[in-house]
Order: sequence, then structure tokens, then C-alpha cells
Amino acid sequence: MSESLAEKIRKIRSGEWKAEAVLNEVYDRIEQKNPELNAYRALIPRERLLEQARALDARIARGEPVGKLAGVPVSVKDCICIEDPDLDITCGSKLLEGYHSPYHSTAVARLKAEDALIIGLTNMDEFAMGGSTESSAYGLSRNPWDAERVPGGSSGGAAASVAAGMAWAALGSDTGGSVRQPASFCGVTGFKPTYGTISRYGLVAYGSSLDQIGVLAPSAEDCQLVYEVVGGHDPRDSTSVPEPAAPAESVDLSGLRFCLPTQYLNQDAIAPEVIAAVEEVEATLKAQGATVEHRYLEFLDTIIPVYYTIAFAEASSNLGRFDGIRYGVRKQQGDSLRSVYTSTREEGFGAEVKRRIMLGTFVLSSGYYDQYYGRATQVRNYIAAQTQQLFEEFDFILGPVSPTPAFRFGEKMEDPLAMYLVDLCSVLANLTKAPAISLPGKPTDSGLPVGVQLIGPRLSDAKMLGTTAALQQHLTYFHHRPA
Ligand code: GLN
Repeated sequence: MSESLAEKIRKIRSGEWKAEAVLNEVYDRIEQKNPELNAYRALIPRERLLEQARALDARIARGEPVGKLAGVPVSVKDCICIEDPDLDITCGSKLLEGYHSPYHSTAVARLKAEDALIIGLTNMDEFAMGGSTESSAYGLSRNPWDAERVPGGSSGGAAASVAAGMAWAALGSDTGGSVRQPASFCGVTGFKPTYGTISRYGLVAYGSSLDQIGVLAPSAEDCQLVYEVVGGHDPRDSTSVPEPAAPAESVDLSGLRFCLPTQYLNQDAIAPEVIAAVEEVEATLKAQGATVEHRYLEFLDTIIPVYYTIAFAEASSNLGRFDGIRYGVRKQQGDSLRSVYTSTREEGFGAEVKRRIMLGTFVLSSGYYDQYYGRATQVRNYIAAQTQQLFEEFDFILGPVSPTPAFRFGEKMEDPLAMYLVDLCSVLANLTKAPAISLPGKPTDSGLPVGVQLIGPRLSDAKMLGTTAALQQHLTYFHHRPA
């Protein structure tokens, strides 16, 4: 059983472990694993970061105060801005190749202020649109448990970096499951907090009313430590919540009430191994004195069309800024301004991104706005009201993260609808701005990880992390690591 993040930090801060040695070990691991897994798209050169680690060790040796994440190697998804000469921020797109951010995102600035060591940027689906990391312009990433399978997405590189020991924690982003689904596929814990609790300042926008930075780490307790540092109010994000990130809460499982929607136990939609993992958590909760009630939730049947209508609409508007003038690559075929726009976008964006821009523009177009975007917004409000009511009776919704364990390359790439259906269980949290977590449940017979999800009411973040931490005392899968 490996140490918790808190124990590791304690060892670094006490001088028992040197940050320099920790970092060397992580870079050795990256050299060994990353060529195959392609979890990192760009790295800070080892020697440069070693200097920082040595300076940190020297401060510790002199007894000077150091930050809460002193020496912790962290990976950051390639859409969360870092101002660094060695790191261009590409969002997995050709269009942004070579683009250097002129500032740090708030989340990154806060990590650095607490002495975390940011190793590099992790690979992702282009502009976070996808569920497999196959749509990155920088090659696909592989699942550390089975190199023939996807690591999930869009934060596939982030999950693989933690699962393969190439980082102790990772920042990802989650618009419709992109932190939780890869966490589920790679056997780590993935936490998407309440919308607005981690600032979106410096996160490249996909669907602004859904986007949320989240944390991936081996356990919920580890996620809490990072969440406390990066979370909390930020005046630079007008949608940021007013309060600081909630401190850790210790939770007693007995008496907690869970709702398990019956649709999540339907074998036509959800793989038997996934249902088995959910049922095992259900049994563990009951053994600890919690209640689990099965209930049919009629609004769940609408969430995929609602999510994709809203996500495409927001994406089509957000991606308008990539015009070849302001950011990244510029192409020009004729001599007009228009040709700069069209050739840059034609050559720079991949197929899925183009599909979404076109569909999103369509659902917002006059004549169709009410029928699609307007209607989706109404249903979203209805779902939010229904969910809020449900949380008067229950503490959490329990269910799967993804309908299947990690799938094989190419299995869904040719069929966009099949790929969209992967998000069946994850988008509810984004549509309702609720916190949600993926925790490693019982693996399949062939050893593939399977995540189990909790969704809670808005701002129940600390209670959710505390509940998951209590649950993880009884579930040991999160200590398993791929060879
Ligand atoms: N798979 C979903 C999508 O493609 C979610 C992606 C995400 O959360 N960034 O929109």
C-alpha cells in the first residue's frame, strides 16, 4: 500500500525525502513510460525543474516555511494556461501549436504559490471535445492498464499520468465528464467540484456554463489537499463562488441516504461489470449503515440531447476567437482577411471540432434558436429543479461513471453518436453545476479499472470528498497500480 499524498508531503517537509530525489524518480518514470503512453504532450526540462526542487530542499534545510504542496509533482491538462518558455498551450489542437500563454491560470498560480512542481502539460481530446483522447492532434494516449485501450477523455493524459506514477496529482477539466471518465478508465479518483469553486480564469473555454477544472489523484483524501489549494473565490472569474474551498470534513457513512437511479442498472445501456462495481459499493454502503434506494428518474432520459445542444452552442461561440489573428497558427491562401480566417480554421481544426462548431451555430441560428437552444435551456432548468428536489430526500446519487470500462482504439471514433453516449452518466453533474466524483470500484475479471460515481448537491464538495474517503477505507482498489 503506498503512502497518502499527505504522508508524502510530510516526508518532504521534514527533510526525510528530498524533493530533488522525488523529482528524479518521477522523470525516470516518465522517460520509461511516456514514449508509449503519450500522457504528457510537453514537459519542463528535467534540469530546469531540478533547480526548483533543490532550492526547495535548501529552504527546508534552513527551516524556512514552505507551501502546502511542497515538492508535489503535478501534471496540468493542456488547456489550463501556464506562462512558461518551454510550454506552449495547444488544447490538443494544431491551431494553437506554438501559442504561449502570457499569464498563469489561477489554478496554476495557486499550485505554484504552494510550492507544487509542475512537470508538464498532458494530452487531451482537441479542445476537450471527446471521450478517448483519440482526437488530439498530437497523437493518441494509451491506457496504462492495457495499451490497446483508450485512457478515456478528454483528460486522458491527466489520468494516465497519475495512474502510471508520472505525477502525484493532476489538474484536468470537466465539461461533461472529462475528469471523471478518464479517472474511471485509469483507476484513479477524479473529482469535479461544484461549478465555480475552482476559478476558470486561464482555462481555455469550451462550454462556459459547464466547464469546471477538477483534480485527479489516487484517493479522495489526496484530491481534497489539491482542491483546497486551487479552489476558492477568485475575483478574476465572475462565476466563481464567494467562499474559500471547504476544508476536509470527516464523514460517518451510517445514516447517509443514497439514490441509485434504476436506469443505471439497465443491462441494455450499462455493461454488467459496471453494474457489478456499482452494486459492490452499494453493498459496502449498506454494511456501514447507509441506505440506498432504487428509483426511476424520468429526467435522466433527456440529458444527452440537452447536454450536446448546449455544449455545441457554447463551443461554437467560444471557438470564434480562434481566427488566425489573435492566437496560435496563421494560414493564408488568398490575400484577403477572410482567407486568413477560413484557411486557418480549415487547416487548424480537426473534424470533431468543426462538426461541433457547425452544429452549435445551427442550434443558435435565428429560426432554430427556440426549437433547439431555447428548448434545451428550458429542459436544463427543469432537470436542475428536479435534482434539487431529489437532494431534499437524498445526500448523494450513486451510479456508474461510464457505461463501459475502457474501450479499444477506433471502437467509437468513426461513430460520433456512440462516442456521445459514453457521457450518459456524467453530464447530469455539469448541467446542474453539481459536484461529482469518480472512485475506483471493483475491477473487471480481466483487471480493467471501473469507476463508480457520486453526485451531490451544489457546494457539498467537502462532504462528498469526506464520504468518498470514508468509503475508500473499505474499498482497496485505489491502491492498485498498473505494472
Ligand atoms: N465527452 C464530452 C464531450 O465531448 C465531455 C467532454 C468534457 O468534459 N470536456 O463534450
